[in-house]
Amino acid sequence: MADGRFDVIVVGQGLAGTTLAWTLTEAGQRVLVVDAEPAVTSSKIAAGLITPITGKRLALSWQGDMFLPVAQAFYRAIEARTGRRFFHDRSTVRLFQSAEETSHWAQRCDQPAFQAHLVDPQPVPAIDPGVAEAPFGGFEMASAQLDVAGYLDASRAVLEYAPMQLDWARDVMLTAGGVEVQGIKARRLVSCEGFAATRNPYFSWVPFNPAKGDILTIRVDRPLPRVCLQCGIWVAPTGDPRVFAVGSTYGWGATDEVPTTAARAEIEGKLLAFFRVPYEVIGHRAAVRPIIRQSKALVGLHPLHEQLGYFNGLGSKGASIAPWFARLFAAHLVDAAPLPQTVDLRANYTMRA
Ligand SMILES: Cc1cc2nc3c(=O)[nH]c(=O)nc-3n(C[C@H](O)[C@H](O)[C@H](O)COP(=O)(O)OP(=O)(O)OC[C@H]3O[C@@H](n4cnc5c(N)ncnc54)[C@H](O)[C@@H]3O)c2cc1C
Repeated sequence: MADGRFDVIVVGQGLAGTTLAWTLTEAGQRVLVVDAEPAVTSSKIAAGLITPITGKRLALSWQGDMFLPVAQAFYRAIEARTGRRFFHDRSTVRLFQSAEETSHWAQRCDQPAFQAHLVDPQPVPAIDPGVAEAPFGGFEMASAQLDVAGYLDASRAVLEYAPMQLDWARDVMLTAGGVEVQGIKARRLVSCEGFAATRNPYFSWVPFNPAKGDILTIRVDRPLPRVCLQCGIWVAPTGDPRVFAVGSTYGWGATDEVPTTAARAEIEGKLLAFFRVPYEVIGHRAAVRPIIRQSKALVGLHPLHEQLGYFNGLGSKGASIAPWFARLFAAHLVDAAPLPQTVDLRANYTMRA
């Protein structure tokens, strides 16, 4: 824009802010992204797993058939834009923890909706007993993994970006035509701050149900195939075939980012129950998942200030759901397309004074 003015300033370069910034850019908007660049954030430590069948109840991911194709197409397009690879097709081997899980699976594995995600040969996954024990069997499904840190790095190099810790009370001036942030003008300012949005004076009234997650990085004694293992916890590949991420815990209500010995013991206890490869722990980090309502993002404009937007609540499924919700919000911001009621900040929460 000739006058140096932006359409949108996005605050936060995590999964939410990065994905929204790309989507707005694709829609022809001029976007500036700012971030405080702390060493640890939920996005920076996330394993980026995108798994169609999840949880103890072996359920299909909520609205997965809708979110996953959009996510795949989006990340592939950004790979093409940035010339970097960070979205990987993966095979995930889910191992059962009990006979109950085995019989639960037997009742649903023939259903077409589940069959569509399975990898041949079924029903017993070809798992090397020297890698993992599978006394109750399991199954293998097609899944994906976003190298979240790689996606953020690649995007930062291409998007218009400035390192900045924004103090909303001090730095933001609302004007008739938009906002001014430290002298930079824009029509809109959007908070994509994850759990830190609870400290944003304009949005601190949005209720959160945060869950701290600890995650370990382990180095194994030999290169292993780049397959995800799940058995109460997951073991996820990284760029190095001897290094894996293992996690994670759910510390409901905890809002600090301090890794704890109790969380490490919980993860290692679950790992040692099935994983047979000698390993050493080479990293341990923790961050707070921005959960508002389980895996249901919340987006929209501030109830009083049209210039201010909000994109948050990616929860524990940010990699899968961010592209879908960014698309909805970008259409709302650019073309005034209505937001579905379940997603709209204004429709779901009342601002407390
Ligand atoms: C241990 C763990 C494992 C996970 N594994 C997975 C997984 O396998 N798959 C999956 O899909 N999801 C996973 N998640 C969840 C995923 O990490 C989140 O859904 C996602 O990261 C949320 O992204 P966000 O951008 O909303 O928030 P954040 O990642 O918290 O990003 C917010 C950004 O805003 C910046 N910021 C905040 N306030 C300001 C300010 N005032 N000024 C400037 N910058 C600011 C911060 O620096 C940060 O970069 C995991 C989470 C954890 C903790």
